[in-house]
Amino acid sequence: MNFCEGCNMACGGDRCPKCGRKKLRAVTEDDFCLVGQVDRIFGDNLKFNLENENIECVLMPFGTGVNSKFALPLESYLVYVRYRNLDYVRRILNDDNA
Ligand SMILES: [Zn+2]
Repeated sequence: MNFCEGCNMACGGDRCPKCGRKKLRAVTEDDFCLVGQVDRIFGDNLKFNLENENIECVLMPFGTGVNSKFALPLESYLVYVRYRNLDYVRRILNDDNA
């Protein structure tokens, strides 16, 4: 499995599916990889649950620029977890947020 440092994206091929970059390196267990996008409430719950399982999780606010003028908490998060937890967390997202 390879890793794009520009996108924090783990991918099987030799080209990043997101940015098209070909300069990828081998992924390591500790790399933070993008899992997907979730809404804010789901993201907060996910982080809470994962931390209870001692799984590190990073939430990056996403889309705040578009929604800020409405003063509503509508923004979503991009979720990143370490590569060793990627499959596990991806499964949780697919089950609950499909
Ligand atoms: Zn990339």
